[in-house]
This record gives sequence, structure tokens and C-alpha cells, in this order.
Amino acid sequence: MKKFSVLIAIVAGLVVSSMSVLSNETPAQTSIESATSGDAAKFSGPGNDSSALQRSTPVDPAAATQAWLNSVPQDKREKSDAYFEGGYWLILWNYLVAAAISILLLASRISARVRDFSERLTRYKTPQVACYSVLCLLLVFVLSFPLNVYEHFFREHQYGLATQSFLAWFREQLIGLGITLIGGTIVLIVLYAVFRRAPKTWWIWGTGVAVVFSFVLVFIAPVFIEPLFNTYKPLTKPEISEPILAMARANEIPVKQVFEVDASRQTTRVSANVSGILGTTRIALNDNLLKQCTISEIRAVMAHEMGHYVLNHGPKLLTYLGLFILMGFALTRVLFDAAVRRWGDKWGVRGIADPAGLPLLALLFSTLLFLATPILNTVVRVTEREADAFGINTSREPNAMANVALKLGAYRKLNPTPLEEFIFYDHPSGRARIRMAMDWKAANLSAGESPRSGSQNQKQTEE
Ligand SMILES: [Zn+2]
Repeated sequence: MKKFSVLIAIVAGLVVSSMSVLSNETPAQTSIESATSGDAAKFSGPGNDSSALQRSTPVDPAAATQAWLNSVPQDKREKSDAYFEGGYWLILWNYLVAAAISILLLASRISARVRDFSERLTRYKTPQVACYSVLCLLLVFVLSFPLNVYEHFFREHQYGLATQSFLAWFREQLIGLGITLIGGTIVLIVLYAVFRRAPKTWWIWGTGVAVVFSFVLVFIAPVFIEPLFNTYKPLTKPEISEPILAMARANEIPVKQVFEVDASRQTTRVSANVSGILGTTRIALNDNLLKQCTISEIRAVMAHEMGHYVLNHGPKLLTYLGLFILMGFALTRVLFDAAVRRWGDKWGVRGIADPAGLPLLALLFSTLLFLATPILNTVVRVTEREADAFGINTSREPNAMANVALKLGAYRKLNPTPLEEFIFYDHPSGRARIRMAMDWKAANLSAGESPRSGSQNQKQTEE
């Protein structure tokens, strides 16, 4: 999914939590991604030697990890470090722009005037909220467009990650805007109905609304939203689908849920993802992955994605999200009331049930989200690490896993400091992933052979 209109979503407060569930770098779509432009895909690490050599040479995990990292040319390392470190600043800029838009809408009384306009249009509360919501979301789309176009169009092209012309990209932004207008307005209508009926305890009922809408969004995304941007079709080539479907069968994953997606329409990144929940869950690998990776690497990536499915990461992350929203809403409630007492008259905001207070809600909630960045990233990174562990044990491809980690390194800094990884990484770093693969390789060299060994056969016949 595109990271469309993240800023709009931030102002919609609640929509932010549901949208981010869909966006590329975050929970439910939990993607293992790499950006490989051309020859980056041809990195060959020290593990690409003959398989006989791999079996007979003892592995020193620390030294092997360093050797893989050293195989990346200096210029490529510098480019991906620059791309990823720029992302740190974009977290800050996105927050500052969202905060500035919120403060502008409040302090200039634009928000109060849009509310007044809605009240003149109709005397019913629900259409008033709908009218306010549509106008406000449109305004935010326009005001945040400069940062959006820099971050998601120019910057992506600058680093060779994007494949779209401006018109094709802009068309998708408009589709995203349409989805945000429809989804955001429905969420806000329901939320404001809650605010009117429970002005003191809205944070509890509001959390219920947020979780239910997040669930619905994740549930319908593969059916109604993702097809607006890409085409999904079942895997056709048996030489690729068979090794993948064999892993799926071994883990009792319904095979009809493995798809190929034409991601090259938008990007050069190699990726795969899990989306949907319950009956709509599907695993998709993209066409860049099919073109640029070996079967071993594809197996390593798909085993990771299957880990998300088998370990129920979708429902688990949705549960954690609910807890975060509950805490966030509880704090927002206290801060909102305090701010309205102090500045309510000046901004023309009457209270929680007044739509004119939406930018204040969004400001408070997005501030809490911004401050919680390291915690949210860590929660996601820990589930990604679980999927890595599942992946290496299922695919049994340590060298392919290390190779894929290097390909990811084309856009994700390979070797960060521990503090950097804690704050900014929503997936394990390349170094951490290669180390996991090398630890596995070192520990399982002989164990991996045992099912075919003589003693094992002996045991089987005895039983
Ligand atoms: Zn993942």
C-alpha cells in the first residue's frame, strides 16, 4: 500500500492508526522489503561458495557476519545510509508539519469557521460532522502536499526507488484521498456520535470504535483497497510456486492465499507482504522479487511472511494497537479538556463534541504518537524478529537470508548503533538479520543433515 495521505490521517487522529496498519513500513502489512536498483541485486556475499564447502567449514558467526557486511561496496553503503538517515528527519518533519497545520487551523479560527459553515448548511449533527470532515481533510491534503510530494515522489526518484511518472503518482494520491475522505468521514461520524453521548468516558468507547474500524480496514484492504493500486494474481510458474507452496503446506497455510503482485508499477523495491485478516489473509510476493532473486532467496522471504501468518501477527498487532490507542485517548482526554479551558474561547472550540476541536485532538494524539515512536517501532521490530526466526527454521536458507538482508540494505542502513536501531528500526537491521542467519548456520550444520543420516534411518526402522 502507498503511504498515501499519512498527514491527512494524522489530522483525522483515529484514521492515522488504521491507515498506518496498511502502510508499507508498518504492522499488518508487515513487509520484508528491499530496494534494489539493478546491480544491487547481484551482491554476492561470502556465503555463495560451494555447498560442500559450507558444510565442511565451521562458521564463526561474528566473523562471517562481518564478512557479509564487508562485501557491500562503500558507495552503495553510503547511499543507503543517507537514504535511511534522511528518514529519521522525515519523522520529525512530518510531525512538525502536522502540528503546524493543526495549530494554524485552530489559531486562525479556520476550523471554527468551517464548523460554522457546516452548522448553517444543516441543523442535524451527523451531516454537520460529515461536512466539516470532508472540508477539513481536503484542506489538510492541500497543506501537506509539498512535503508529501517531496517525500514520496522526488526523494524516491532521487534514490532510484520509484518507477512512476508524476501523473501516474498523482492519480494514485487522488485515489488515496478518495479512500481517506470516505473512510475518515465514516470514522469521524461514529466518533463524534460517541463524543456527544459520552463526553467524559469517550476515550473508552472511542478505543472500541478505533479497534473495530482498524479491523474492518485490514479485513477489506485486500479485497477493495489494494486492487485499486495493483493487480494480484495466483503464482503461475510451478518452478517458483512449488517450493513456496510446499512450505505453505508444511505449515498448514491455505495455498490459495499465495499471490503475485505487480509492484514494479510503482517501485524497484523487492518485497513481499501479508495483508488482510481472518478469511481475507493473503501472502503476496512482488514481481521485483521474482525477477531479481534466486529461488533460495524467494524461499527465505516467503518463509518470513508465512511466519507472520502462522504466528498470528495481524490479530496480535491489532490488540497491541488497541492498548496504545486506549492509553493515547486517556491522555488526550485530559490534555484536550485542559487546552479547551485555556484556549477554547480564542479558538472557538466549545468542547469534545464540537467538530471544530478536531485539529486539537489530532495535534495531541499525533504528539503522543511521535513521542512513542521508539516504543511502537520496537513492538513491530520484535514481531519482525519472530517472523525472521520462523523464516530461517522453515526455509533453512541462512545464506539466502543473509543475501536478502544485504538487498534490504540498499535502502535500510545495514549497520546502525544499538540506540539507532531501538529508536528508528521497525525491522531488524541487516547486521542483526545476518547475525541471526550465521548463528543458525553455525549451530545447525550437522543437525540439518541428521534426517538423512544412517543413525536416523536406523532409529526409524527400529520404531
Ligand atoms: Zn515481516
